[in-house]
Amino acid sequence: MERRIAVLPGDGIGQEIVPEAVKVLQAIGQRFGHTFEWKYSDIGGQAIDRIGFPLPQETLDLAKHSDAVLLGAVGGPKWEGLEYERRPERALLGLREALGLFANLRPAKLHSDLADASTLKREVIEGIDILVVRELIGGIYFGKPKGIEPTATGHRGVNTEVYTTEEITRIAHVAFQAARKRRRLVTSVDKANVLESSELWRRVVTEVHGSYPEVELRHMYVDNCAMQLIRNPKQFDVVVTTNLFGDILSDEAAMLTGSIGMLPSASVGSKVGMYEPIHGSAPDIAGKDLANPIGMIASGAMMLAYSFDLVKEAELIERAIQRVLGQGYRTKDIEGPGTIPVGTKQMGALIVQQVQENN
Ligand code: NAD
Repeated sequence: MERRIAVLPGDGIGQEIVPEAVKVLQAIGQRFGHTFEWKYSDIGGQAIDRIGFPLPQETLDLAKHSDAVLLGAVGGPKWEGLEYERRPERALLGLREALGLFANLRPAKLHSDLADASTLKREVIEGIDILVVRELIGGIYFGKPKGIEPTATGHRGVNTEVYTTEEITRIAHVAFQAARKRRRLVTSVDKANVLESSELWRRVVTEVHGSYPEVELRHMYVDNCAMQLIRNPKQFDVVVTTNLFGDILSDEAAMLTGSIGMLPSASVGSKVGMYEPIHGSAPDIAGKDLANPIGMIASGAMMLAYSFDLVKEAELIERAIQRVLGQGYRTKDIEGPGTIPVGTKQMGALIVQQVQENN
């Protein structure tokens, strides 16, 4: 197989973790006879420094003409003072919208070797395996009217939560199809007791459910879901929700597993999928060989499975990660008593070695 991958390392630790993911994917290519062509471009703060804008046209064109996009992270204190439209994080919204990436898939699965790294009790989190399916290009982050306008006494800030039948239908299909390959339970999260947009959400998800009789559907209010994720996270399989609720709940689900540095994500919806770890650019540890590259490497595995249908290869990467953790190697964010401390590069090299030498 030959595939063209747009590589956008971005800012902060993005520059350190992306090379480790590329090395692991190269090892997969060599082992299974696939050719991956890597095309690099700027995004976020580094693009602002070069051309004054976080999402250069050349980066957008490259992404559109690739088979998948591998992204590190964007942002940092250097660019925080910029006006909203020129901030690094705008590049992500722009890419998602331009590529039609309406579904964000975030698995939160606990590696049992890391159960003690979580702030929750082992018996609460052991065995959790949740997939949050977040709607990504609709809802309050994109709805109009929006903005800040002057009033007689000060200002008025406005954002609009808006969803159409079509937007809800397509994300519901993604959730039910994912559940079919898992434990066949979808929890749809909304605020239908207060919001009309949520009332429509609930109605449409229920209609789409009619095509998936083998999957169980439950509805849950977002405030209850926030509580249930902490109280009894094992009750969830697939959670489908809006852009805003998904943004918050997926971070909460991530923290159940111990470290933000461990978790991957996939944004899909059209021809080109985008894969990135769930964390940001971590300016506090950037350039120090301290970042955990596992979330980035696991994002590469999701790219193989979702964009290229290379499921066997993706599973080999996941097993390689498990083995390295099982041998006790840990980056600083997941260290514990009796573990072996390693930096970003060594963690990457250990996973590469497992991919090359084991099954
Ligand atoms: P962050 O995720 O960058 O960091 C939060 C904390 O987690 C920090 O203490 C950091 O050191 C730690 N951390 C994150 N990733 C880690 C890893 N791989 N290994 C070890 N530790 C890790 O969030 P933040 O500090 O709120 O944001 C920093 C910058 O990143 C901001 O500019 C923010 O806007 C941006 N951001 C970007 C994205 C993205 O690119 N998708 C997502 C979130 C935040």
